[in-house]
Amino acid sequence: MGSLPDLKSPARRRLLERLSFAVPLAALAVMPGARGAAAAAALLDPVSPEAKAVGYVEDAAGASGAARGSTCANCALYQGADGSQQGPCQIFPGKEVKAAGWCASWAPQM
Ligand code: SF4
Repeated sequence: MGSLPDLKSPARRRLLERLSFAVPLAALAVMPGARGAAAAAALLDPVSPEAKAVGYVEDAAGASGAARGSTCANCALYQGADGSQQGPCQIFPGKEVKAAGWCASWAPQM
């Protein structure tokens, strides 16, 4: 068994007081989410070559080939959360698409 620190020493008492604050703060600093949410991926530019290649538009209502009611939000390749305004798409790694968008690769959810 180790001996308890000499709390009569002012220097040791100050050290222990500092540690009692520092240890919980250090634990908070390494907790996931403690530094804020990760930055969202960039929104896909509809005029970029990869977007144009599949006819991507940010508003499905403006897509000539879109079946009525089909949008990114109900596409099998959309990975955004339910109710999200935008989210990742499997065919555009590192980019997000508008939930209201559409492209020719739209696929029904199973
Ligand atoms: S594949 Fe689906 S989610 Fe991705 S852009 Fe096209 S319609 Fe939207």
